[in-house]
This record gives sequence, C-alpha cells and structure tokens, in this order.
Amino acid sequence: AKDMGKNNCQFYTREMNATIEEKLVLLEGLRSALDEGQFRLVYQPKVDLHTGRVFGVEALVRWEHPEQGVIGPDRFIPLAEESGIIVALGEWVLRTACAQNRAWQDQGFAPLRISVNVSPRQFEEQLLVQRVQRALADSGLAAQWLELEVTEGVIMRDLQQAVAKMAQVRAMGVSLSIDDFGTGYSSLSALKSFPISTLKIDKSFVRDLGRSMGDEAIASSIIGLAHRLKLRVIAEGVETEQQRSFLRENGCDEMQGYLFSRPLPPEQLAQLLAAPAVK
Ligand code: C2E
Ligand code: CA
Ligand code: CA
Ligand code: CA
Repeated sequence: AKDMGKNNCQFYTREMNATIEEKLVLLEGLRSALDEGQFRLVYQPKVDLHTGRVFGVEALVRWEHPEQGVIGPDRFIPLAEESGIIVALGEWVLRTACAQNRAWQDQGFAPLRISVNVSPRQFEEQLLVQRVQRALADSGLAAQWLELEVTEGVIMRDLQQAVAKMAQVRAMGVSLSIDDFGTGYSSLSALKSFPISTLKIDKSFVRDLGRSMGDEAIASSIIGLAHRLKLRVIAEGVETEQQRSFLRENGCDEMQGYLFSRPLPPEQLAQLLAAPAVK
C-alpha cells in the first residue's frame, strides 16, 4: 500500500507538470495573441421568453490558436486573469463588441443590447469606467445598448467599492447584470443595494429543470426574488423545450441557450436577425 501511494504521488506530480507546462505554453502564446489578431468574438442571441423576439446578444471570446485551433475561454480566461493580460484583452472585447453592435445598427437591424463579460480583475481596475466611456464614444454606440455581466464573486471581494463602481457604470446609462447567479456567495441583503437590472440564472440550475425538484425550486425562487426586487431574470443554458416551458410557466423573462441558437460569428448572427421570426 505504501508503494502504491508513492507511485500515485509520482503520477500526480507528472500530471501536474504536464498541466503547468501546458499553461506556460498557452501563456506564452496569449502574450502575443492580441497583437497577432488571434481573438474573435461570437454572439449568442438572448430571446424574450414571451414574445420570442431577439432583444440582445452576449459577446463570447474565442482564441484562434495557430497550432491548436479554436480554444474556448474556459481554458484561457483564467490564465489571462492571473497574468493581467485580461485588462488588454477585456478592452479589446469591449471595443470590438461596441463597434459590432453599432455596425448592425448602421446596417438597419433593430437595435440590440450587447452584453460583455467583465472578469474580476478587469472590474476592479481603476480605469474601467473611462474605458467603457471611450469604447462607447469611439464606436458611436449609445450607452443603453451596452450591458456588462459581472459575477457575484467580483462584487463580494470589496462590496462598498464594487457598489460605487456599479453606480458609476449605471450613471453612464450602461446596464449591469449578475452572471451565474446562485453559484456565488452574495448575500441576499447585499443584492438589494446593487444597481443592476437583471439576474442571470446559472446553467447548472437550468440543466435538470423538469427532472430535479431541487433545481426547479431554486430556479423558481430566483425568478420570484428577482421580480420582487424589480429585476428582470434570464436563464442561460436552455437546451430543451421542457426547460423552456418550465421557465416560461414560472415567469422567467428571457432565455439564452442552444435551443434557440449557439453563439454565432457576426455574419451568421446578421442572417438570423434578417430571417423572419419563428415562434
Ligand atoms: P458565461 O458568461 O457563463 O457564458 C455562458 C457559457 O455557456 C458560454 O460558454 C456559452 O457558449 C455556453 N452556452 C450557451 N448556451 C449554452 C447551452 O445551451 N448549453 C450549454 N451547455 N452551454 C451553453 P463559453 O463561450 O465557452 O464561455 C465560458 C465562460 O468564459 C463564460 O461563461 C465567461 O465566464 C467566460 N468568457 C467568455 N467570453 C469572455 C470575455 O470576453 N471576457 C471574460 N472576462 N470572460 C469571458
Ligand atoms: Ca456571461
Ligand atoms: Ca454562466
Ligand atoms: Ca461562467
């Protein structure tokens, strides 16, 4: 048993080294990826659950790695966050999303609200508010068509400062939503002091709707809570008709997920907007 323990330990170390090495290789590539133009954004529609209308899109970043192909954000956003690269990457995302949204408006599509994910380090950064202001000014996008998605973790790190910053963002006319709601630790009493407009139910609670009474209770409680606080509520990760009908019957306002559409490159999103609406 002792020997086995030792072997396990060596195995574990080798695995760890592989992971660290992989991380280092990715990190190396991340540093130059922005300059090399290797990032792109895809856009996932957000749909009104009652009218079926697309009212917004969430911008999601992808990395077109020269050797590894397309890499998803779960593999590199944490690295970008740890290394500080997120600040420059986040600014690129913000500016690209604003410019794209303005371009759709210029092409004559009904205006959409574009949502951009903001990671903790990016949110805490001093210049965030100015960066948002500049992205709007340079793209010519009106503030009402931009939303920032932040997670509870971002806010709970330094509650007072976060609320002050959220208020500055709101004062500009930009909307705020809490992403992955229910997975973090924000206290319900803190929630009422957040100048936000929307709660997003995390997809981990959506997955088993129709199968798990526990998840159904959580989802319908979040919907009730949001409405009592005069917030809108959106469910992410909606993949089945069953999930959609549960959410609709329980008063959820909006949804996002593969059932309606995967995240799409800008040209395909425009095609979807141009197509006649199906209910
Ligand atoms: P998130 O903000 O919670 O985004 C939702 C994730 O769920 C996205 O994964 C989306 O593609 C995926 N998704 C959408 N519909 C469905 C569905 O029906 N079923 C399932 N199973 N998944 C669905 P993605 O694009 O891989 O992004 C992962 C995470 O990376 C995001 O989670 C977000 O936290 C982060 N991220 C993505 N883009 C950015 C960015 O530009 N900046 C920052 N800071 N973080 C980003
Ligand atoms: Ca999000
Ligand atoms: Ca989420
Ligand atoms: Ca997430």
